[in-house]
Amino acid sequence: MCAECGSTPCLSSCPNRVDKPIGVCPVCNEKILDYEPFYDFDGEKYHDVCFQDNAVSILMDMGARFYECSEE
Ligand SMILES: [Zn+2]
Ligand SMILES: [Zn+2]
Repeated sequence: MCAECGSTPCLSSCPNRVDKPIGVCPVCNEKILDYEPFYDFDGEKYHDVCFQDNAVSILMDMGARFYECSEE
């Protein structure tokens, strides 16, 4: 148990904490740390905020297609 924060693993605010990145977010190219909320989608991990802000472009990258209704 950590002497500093009394938790195992350390709390995110603990100075003894060693960050363990679980992946790199393709949106912002920053590491995703194991205490951050994230989305795992199709093998990629995204920060919660990055995914929500970019969900449409991520889906388009994954091959989603957008069709507007054609007016005949
Ligand atoms: Zn600690
Ligand atoms: Zn991100």
